[in-house]
Amino acid sequence: MGNVLIIGAGAAGSVAAKKCAMDASFTKIHVASRTLSKCEKIQKECVRPISISQLDADNTDDIIKLIEQVKPDIVVNLALPYQDLTIMDACLATGVAYLDTANYEPIDEAKFTYEYQWPYHDKFKEKGIMAILGCGFDPGVTNIYCAYAQEHLFDEIHYVDIIDCNAGDHGQAFATNFNLEINLREVTQRGKYWESGEWMEIDALSISKMIDFPGVGEKKAYLIYHEEEESLVKNIRGLKRIRFWMTFSDNYIKHLDVLQNVGMTRIDPIKYEGMDIVPLQFLKALMPEPSSLAENYTGKTSIGTIIEGIKDGKQKKILIYNVCEHEECNREVGAQAVSYTTGVPAVVGAKMFLQGKWAGKGVFNVEQLPATPFLEEVAKQGLPWHIKELEVGLGD
Ligand code: NDP
Repeated sequence: MGNVLIIGAGAAGSVAAKKCAMDASFTKIHVASRTLSKCEKIQKECVRPISISQLDADNTDDIIKLIEQVKPDIVVNLALPYQDLTIMDACLATGVAYLDTANYEPIDEAKFTYEYQWPYHDKFKEKGIMAILGCGFDPGVTNIYCAYAQEHLFDEIHYVDIIDCNAGDHGQAFATNFNLEINLREVTQRGKYWESGEWMEIDALSISKMIDFPGVGEKKAYLIYHEEEESLVKNIRGLKRIRFWMTFSDNYIKHLDVLQNVGMTRIDPIKYEGMDIVPLQFLKALMPEPSSLAENYTGKTSIGTIIEGIKDGKQKKILIYNVCEHEECNREVGAQAVSYTTGVPAVVGAKMFLQGKWAGKGVFNVEQLPATPFLEEVAKQGLPWHIKELEVGLGD
């Protein structure tokens, strides 16, 4: 056990491959992606030999052929959410474990839900294999902070606020830190949070507040919908409310406004000189790739989970968080912190599976799996976590 197939040679896939190559638990590493030259670049930059191939992961038969050739113990999907189901189908056909960092989205509808992947549970169970969903940072580590708090720090958890800040500067007029198409689909959606058993919808980016992020200070954060809320609502007992907050600079918001106003964030095809063009996909082609931003990136990310509830009959509120420096990630694996904080947890999740610390038959969100071994390992792999006690009763 130790043979991993990573699909996707982008920003996060590159981090995952390089980190696997630094870790002897991964005996064999294969990276496959749509563009072979990107796999070749990663291959050159890994500290030990890895194998690579070109793959169209929209095609289940092609993935099956590759799996039969590589014979991995686990497939780590770091391509795009559009490929989740084809890769899961190939894992089912070949009896191989699956892990991803983002839930499936139909390409023609920006719909973020586990309702496409959860129904695979029985099929994975019958086949006797495991699928691990959402094992990046958020979703991913932040879910595991909640699971750890539920197990060790609280008798009841009532309120969860996931807070995500990138206080870094990449020096570009406008660029996104992970795949632009996926990022802008997420941010331009109506916002949503869950309270008292109901989903509350709001206009996109219409609620914001100042949050004091460890390591970076006060920043304006916007309430957006994020997929981990859907699984945490099910898996954290006694929850009364869950929200997700993300910071965006004024510069990002300004560009987003203009792009939306001129129709460049549309995901439906338009006719241009007889050709069908999807404006958002065209925009992605114009913008810097997230993997190219690392070189001059300065500053830090600060991501965590504020959890409030009851312990030993008393109200308690804490923040569990990680602070990650762009420059340090670049020094270690030639990546910026957003790709690093995505790729490293995926590697740790795969390692938990290979070591049998995460085991099961069926489809699991990460908060359903043992939190402590994961958190011990993710700290060793470069993402240490800290707990800060917060004062209760200071409003929300
Ligand atoms: P990138 O765009 O940098 O990388 C995506 C890679 O997937 C590219 O190399 C791309 O190929 C490849 N790809 C796309 N379509 C196919 C296909 N049909 N067949 C094979 N390969 C394909 O994105 P990121 O690395 O930033 O993001 C990767 C994933 O991580 C996304 O799903 C994103 O949503 C998720 N993510 C999760 C986070 C978390 O914390 N949970 C945070 C950030 C991202 P090509 O280079 O040819 O385009």
